[in-house]
Amino acid sequence: MNRALRRSLVGTLAGAVASCVLVATLGQPILIVLLGAAIGIGYAVALDPTRGAYVDSLMAGGALGVPLWGLISVIAIPLFSKRMPEWSAEQMRTHFPALVGWVVYGAALGLLTQGLSDLAERIWGPEIEPPSPLPEKKTRIVILGGGFAGMRTAECLEEQFRASASLSITLVSETNALLFTPMLAEVAGSSLEPSHISTPLRSSLHQTEFVRGRVADVDLAGRRVLLESDPAMDAAGLRQEIPYDHLVFALGAVSNYMGMANLQKYSFNFKSLLDAIRIRNHVIEMFERADREGDSDARRQMLTFVVAGGGFAGVELAGALNDYARGIVVDYPKLQREELSVVLVHSRDRILPELSETLGRYAQRKMEERGVTFCLNTRLTDAQPGLVTLSDGAIRAETLVWTAGTAPNPLTKSLQLAKDKRGALIVEKSLQVQGQPGLWAVGDCAAVVDAKTGKPCPPTAQFALREAQVLAKNIRAQSEGRPLQGFHFDSLGALCVVGHQTACAELAVPFSQGRSMRFSGLLAWLMWRGIYLAKLPGLERKIRVLMDWAVELFFPRDIVQTIDLK
Ligand SMILES: Cc1cc2nc3c(=O)[nH]c(=O)nc-3n(C[C@H](O)[C@H](O)[C@H](O)COP(=O)(O)OP(=O)(O)OC[C@H]3O[C@@H](n4cnc5c(N)ncnc54)[C@H](O)[C@@H]3O)c2cc1C
Repeated sequence: MNRALRRSLVGTLAGAVASCVLVATLGQPILIVLLGAAIGIGYAVALDPTRGAYVDSLMAGGALGVPLWGLISVIAIPLFSKRMPEWSAEQMRTHFPALVGWVVYGAALGLLTQGLSDLAERIWGPEIEPPSPLPEKKTRIVILGGGFAGMRTAECLEEQFRASASLSITLVSETNALLFTPMLAEVAGSSLEPSHISTPLRSSLHQTEFVRGRVADVDLAGRRVLLESDPAMDAAGLRQEIPYDHLVFALGAVSNYMGMANLQKYSFNFKSLLDAIRIRNHVIEMFERADREGDSDARRQMLTFVVAGGGFAGVELAGALNDYARGIVVDYPKLQREELSVVLVHSRDRILPELSETLGRYAQRKMEERGVTFCLNTRLTDAQPGLVTLSDGAIRAETLVWTAGTAPNPLTKSLQLAKDKRGALIVEKSLQVQGQPGLWAVGDCAAVVDAKTGKPCPPTAQFALREAQVLAKNIRAQSEGRPLQGFHFDSLGALCVVGHQTACAELAVPFSQGRSMRFSGLLAWLMWRGIYLAKLPGLERKIRVLMDWAVELFFPRDIVQTIDLK
């Protein structure tokens, strides 16, 4: 049976049955069952089922209930009744039963969709046609990078080729876990435990060989990947080169300091888990030192935290650090709140250029109310220990975090492949590296242009994941001599947390050609948590993060240093 029809049937049935829970809280049985069935179709069509993943489906569906509640109960229903949506604390209390109803509906929808999909597979067989016999020789697919793009590519290749004996998939990455970057600011702000936002690659991939190693070079002519030499590994006779037939570049991006060596030397990076741990520990270190410092100017310098860059990463980090610093100051009775300062430096006239101007201004206003200082239309020009130099002045600060620029992974620089002016690998619409059969690139290290709109795709996880899906399909299509598919994806929107229980969200309206809905405040924050919790890979990680968030509601943030900074 046709895949879309099959999923629509599953979704209609699951959505209609699950909506019985909603009828109990919202009434209007016919309307609610129709709505529940329509949501069920969207859910079943959008999600690729993994056989037997009942607990994951339950969690993903339950988390989906939160944004659905926001969109439908809080916004759409009042609008249809010609009332303005309100999200005062009083109103939120009256909406609470509906929230419970939507979460239970989502969980039931997830479970039922999973059960019916498994049943459909038994009756009608697998959704994806079993691969046609591949050539005798084993095809070796090697993926470089275990981030969003690399891990999703491996997962989709496993789905595409199932347990084909004529194919091997190898993933090489310098870290053995996928880092869920949207929650990185919460690690720096001590809300989440570092390992809870990382998913081990080995346990997530089942037919892929994982190699933990740093790629030093790629021999394009000899079709082999060369790993960085390590005397201990050489002595142990461990493999240092990996041959390939298909090579996927998914190496991500690095910080770009635009040639300013001092900035690189005296600032913290904010890209990896270790960066977030280092920042958190350094903030605590500054509080400890300030506590012993008699001179008030020196104390202020220690308690001033400068974040460069007003994009998502910079804003989320500044918000998290501000909350953290103002929260832990009570543990240091000798220090005054007024001595604390979190400064965000941004080269444009408003922060969050990825969001609409009203949301950007809202974020700035909220952060200012909580004590964050903004230096807009300002560039960083230099840094020295204890001093950050700006285009229009200087700030005495012991802490500078750089989020103001990124560049594609430098490994690709030396390779004789087509690159754009940022150094990203230029790919064709099919995501194959320009003019290089068997070489592919996805994610932040690739310059991807949307096949439908002709616009460049942004370097975000949202796009990296969708690129990986198309890439896996194209590798299979190429191996079977079928035409390749062009990459097209309409952004689903963007969400940004600006501080304690406050966020901004701009979500695309489906099938509306670029129109979007904007949310802010507590509602947007609940959506942020619901959506990203659902997206965090692995049930165990979801539970750990939920527990961290629950603990944070009742207890102060932790000030234990976890690495020795000396
Ligand atoms: C703080 C922060 C917050 C973000 N928030 C969001 C968000 O909310 N939503 C969103 O859509 N996007 C967000 N992004 C962007 C998102 O993280 C990236 O777009 C996404 O990670 C790109 O995926 P990727 O697979 O191309 O690269 P990455 O996820 O960076 O993965 C690259 C991988 O390659 C490995 N690697 C690199 N060099 C080598 C080498 N030489 N040898 C071996 N392995 C190597 C790395 O270890 C890593 O595993 C955020 C980014 C940051 C930094």
